[in-house]
Amino acid sequence: MRPAPDRRTFLRVGGLAALPLGAGRPASSGPTPSDWRALGQGLDGRLVRPGDAVYDEARRLFNPAFDRVRPAGVAYCAGPADVAECVNFARRTKVPLAVRSGGHSYGGWSTGSGLIIDVSPMNRITQSPGRATIGAGAKLVDVYDRLASGGTSIPAGSCPTVGVSGLALGGGIGVVSRKYGLTCDAMESVHMVTADGRLLTCDADRHPDLYWASRGGGGGNFGVAVSFGFRTYRTREVTVFFLHWPWAKAARTLRAWQAWTPTTPDEMWSTLHLGNDGGPDVQVGGLYLGGRADCERFLDRLADRIGPASSAFVRQTSHRHAMMIMAGCSTLSVTRCHRPGSLPGQTRDGRLSRDDFRGTSHLAYRPLSEAGARALVAQVARPGNHTVLLDALGGAVARVRPDATAFPHRAALYSVQYYAHRAGAAAWTGNARAAMRPHFGDHAYVNYVDPGLSGWRAAYYGPNAARLARVKAVYDPGRLFRLPQGV
Ligand SMILES: Cc1cc2nc3c(=O)[nH]c(=O)nc-3n(C[C@H](O)[C@H](O)[C@H](O)COP(=O)(O)OP(=O)(O)OC[C@H]3O[C@@H](n4cnc5c(N)ncnc54)[C@H](O)[C@@H]3O)c2cc1C
Repeated sequence: MRPAPDRRTFLRVGGLAALPLGAGRPASSGPTPSDWRALGQGLDGRLVRPGDAVYDEARRLFNPAFDRVRPAGVAYCAGPADVAECVNFARRTKVPLAVRSGGHSYGGWSTGSGLIIDVSPMNRITQSPGRATIGAGAKLVDVYDRLASGGTSIPAGSCPTVGVSGLALGGGIGVVSRKYGLTCDAMESVHMVTADGRLLTCDADRHPDLYWASRGGGGGNFGVAVSFGFRTYRTREVTVFFLHWPWAKAARTLRAWQAWTPTTPDEMWSTLHLGNDGGPDVQVGGLYLGGRADCERFLDRLADRIGPASSAFVRQTSHRHAMMIMAGCSTLSVTRCHRPGSLPGQTRDGRLSRDDFRGTSHLAYRPLSEAGARALVAQVARPGNHTVLLDALGGAVARVRPDATAFPHRAALYSVQYYAHRAGAAAWTGNARAAMRPHFGDHAYVNYVDPGLSGWRAAYYGPNAARLARVKAVYDPGRLFRLPQGV
């Protein structure tokens, strides 16, 4: 029996080719030292500037590949008024602006040379029956933990330190997606400070276009989210599983998994990892919203198509504990399941480390053929330190129309992530994606943003790109919020 690995274990990598917008060039000559002082004094939160003791910690993202970026200031915003103050400051002084929640952007787009709005202090989570209000700075481990006290949860991802903002604004694939949809599907409202400094409540009736764009259009494009209203679901005991097969069965496992997944009920979510991290490995892991015996019956049907697993971990447990297992924190307390430090979003006894990685993605709209499966396995078998992760979609994700939210990939069977670490990481991810293009096509997931992706607009947004551009023109006509791949 092997311990249950999580996504973090796949994310140890080498340098990235592209830097965030504004990095590598001096910040706007706009704001004077006294402008910065005035900004700092006007905030309820804290403005960290170069020379401050915590500056080096404050400027770091999850991925050390962006450590060379030196922002002019990091504003830990205590509330919407602080955010509006920062937005107005950036508009007035023309200093480049970036927005940050969990700091996991694959492109490093939550840092830059100018002012960083960090929403981490806004992490309050409250619940009422069937609903939760979640501050834009909340990290997923805290979301799961806090909601568990009321016996509820929201559909979201597995990495504990990912911010709810980036995840939800770009879609949000998670371990209950097939039953409860994407994170953005559970979003009933978002409160957002727009480029003109106004705080808007966006939902189906108020600013419906901005609400639509906030469900899959990608973070950092339209304004600064300060809180979200989510629909919650009631939790009960679930079953977590991780099965391994010998590498010789990799292509067979892949074909079997993609045929098996759509035959399972929405309660069953799974992910197939083909990894080459000190030796090739095939793993199917996942979560079943039900008891162990039922879960094993479904897993047996998968094994019938492949052959017996070489190792199996199947455990029925509380929903809360299951999320800690999926987070790779099964042996840690919630406070330890954070990054260490004294800044907002960190804990003094935090144990989690950062991760140096390079990633890109595909969406599989049809099952891989036998040749396609062999091609993917061959990419993973190449020398290096990399993993391909296939996350099951379908179920509730597919029951939403592609144009009902900005996330267009409703018909996809699964998402595909190419992750690599250490030297050669960027080359491997680029080459692997290119090699699989004839089989998967060109779709990509905006939450696995890839600065090197050509045709990114169509790849991320498909037919929703034009409407996103129209929303952008209404709410940010001066393009205060800029990204290298901005809508
Ligand atoms: C280890 C790891 C595991 C992951 N697991 C999953 C998973 O299970 N499922 C999944 O779908 N994705 C997953 N992701 C991808 C993740 O959803 C994206 O990287 C997401 O954008 C991260 O959000 P963040 O707030 O942590 O990052 P940030 O870097 O802070 O933000 C990401 C983007 O959103 C913008 N943004 C941040 N906060 C706000 C705000 N308040 N208002 C407006 N814009 C904002 C930023 O400017 C940036 O462009 C994972 C990523 C990593 C690194």
